[in-house]
Amino acid sequence: MAEKIVPEKSYLVQKFAKIRFGAFHVVGYSVAGEETVVQIPELNVCFDIGRAPFFALTSDLVCITHAHMDHIAGLGYYLSQRCFQGMKTGTAFLPRELERPVDNLLKCWRDVERQGTPYNLIPMMHDQLFEVRRDFGIRAVATHHGGASLAYVLISIREKLKPEYLGKTGPELAKMKLDGVEIQYRIEVPVVAFLGDTTAGPVFDHPDVQNAQVLITECTFFDADHKTKAKAGKHLHVDQLIEQLPKLKNEFIVLTHVSRRTGIRRARGILRKKLGDDAMKRILFLMDFEGSRDAGDMEETVPMPAGE
Ligand SMILES: [Zn+2]
Ligand SMILES: [Zn+2]
Repeated sequence: MAEKIVPEKSYLVQKFAKIRFGAFHVVGYSVAGEETVVQIPELNVCFDIGRAPFFALTSDLVCITHAHMDHIAGLGYYLSQRCFQGMKTGTAFLPRELERPVDNLLKCWRDVERQGTPYNLIPMMHDQLFEVRRDFGIRAVATHHGGASLAYVLISIREKLKPEYLGKTGPELAKMKLDGVEIQYRIEVPVVAFLGDTTAGPVFDHPDVQNAQVLITECTFFDADHKTKAKAGKHLHVDQLIEQLPKLKNEFIVLTHVSRRTGIRRARGILRKKLGDDAMKRILFLMDFEGSRDAGDMEETVPMPAGE
């Protein structure tokens, strides 16, 4: 009698990072050329969608930075699964130049899948603020990656009492409000900025990018002889990142999109050597989690990419 075939366990398990910053978390996976998806669960937002890992389905809003496959591949799956599972229609922010081709793509998927998947596309342009709620908005900022590409900043919108009215009592303020006096002013507090893929440029001079509590930026290349690669692919090289640092006031900077050619451990070592321990205190690598191998868990099983 033939021996019974029993399935073996596969160890090709993709691991995701989770970093806590006070009231919110940064969850995700990012390796250059392979997949980038970064979620802020508490703010209901996912930056890029990668291959649509399961956790990403729970965000109602997806901010697509640009159209490279490692950032946008899972969009159709994300929208379709949400429909299939009876969740609210998914909403994708994207550079306005991509609205038409992505709309065409999603319409094709409807025909291919024979499911009338609903979706909302919100075209964005540089410096545009989309107010999701009265107290929460998403601002797009142009990045520099060749073609249409945007960074997104999550903005907490607050109203504060004008200083000249600070001494007034509650009833006095209520009366002034009734009389039509503007007693409050608006402030915008950038909470998280996500740059997607970009080389150095004006995006790093934008006040929301410089002041966000947490800045998530790519830094693809670290080796000295990868500078031409960085230039060709319009990615950030570590030396360019270091040039930006003095003007960045962020409490934390999270680095993503590190090339597998370098790997997280080596990348961290190179940066530490250049910056010193003190400057490293506010800088984290997204994929530098316990138990991770160099930039992910499938190290030996995937071929080296020809280019990022
Ligand atoms: Zn990429
Ligand atoms: Zn790209």
